[in-house]
Amino acid sequence: MSDCLFCKIAAGEIPADIVYQDDVCLAFRDIHPAAPQHLLLIPRRHLATMNDLDDAALAGHLLTVVPRLARQLGIADGGYRTVVNCNADAGQEVFHLHVHLLGGRRLSWPPG
Ligand code: AMP
Ligand code: ZN
Repeated sequence: MSDCLFCKIAAGEIPADIVYQDDVCLAFRDIHPAAPQHLLLIPRRHLATMNDLDDAALAGHLLTVVPRLARQLGIADGGYRTVVNCNADAGQEVFHLHVHLLGGRRLSWPPG
């Protein structure tokens, strides 16, 4: 999608601190980290929200990349959290599906 920030990052048109990429997805550091480790994992395909996720293979691929990233960051054993904000009530700001991966500190529950 031409007017989407994360599509532009995926296309290399806007710089990002990319820590992982494959044919289907990529992960980069959140520009305003909410934890010592804070990545955003996105599909290359533009999907605006979780409500648009219609591809089981894609969903499965994203989830299986998460533990790989957690090990890469050194937070797999200590623990981490994945978050997908969907639409206004969850505070979604960027309308390209993304999985937050947060770790490196004790995370409180429930979230706000
Ligand atoms: P959400 O509220 O779930 O839509 O989260 C959007 C996230 O994208 C926020 O945590 C922002 O800090 C992050 N973000 C926005 N612009 C950029 C950017 N150019 N590079 C990396 N992260 C970004
Ligand atoms: Zn997009």
